Amino acid sequence: MLAYARASEEEYHVVCAELMIRNEYLSLNKLDWGVAISGLDMFTKTLACGVEGCGKLFASRGAIRKHYAGAHGVKGAQIPTQYNITTAQCMDNNHHRMLFHVVPPPD
Ligand SMILES: [Zn+2]
Repeated sequence: MLAYARASEEEYHVVCAELMIRNEYLSLNKLDWGVAISGLDMFTKTLACGVEGCGKLFASRGAIRKHYAGAHGVKGAQIPTQYNITTAQCMDNNHHRMLFHVVPPPD
């Protein structure tokens, strides 16, 4: 059986640099409002939170309602029923899924 030595983190960064690949997950700030990334699914009916300074995105009405209640303390009938619809893509880093705004490619 072959034994593999574990590479150090430093070596890992060197390899990533040589291959010109990112060795860390892109932050949401860098992705938001960028050009759509080819190969990722496009979500054309993503719901955006309307609270100023928030703007988090959700794939379903249930999820955005939960967000209004949990993150903004808005309850029951106070929760908006109309949401801004936007185009988004999704990253999944195995810990959580995150939706980010994208500029859709021209048709
Ligand atoms: Zn919000």
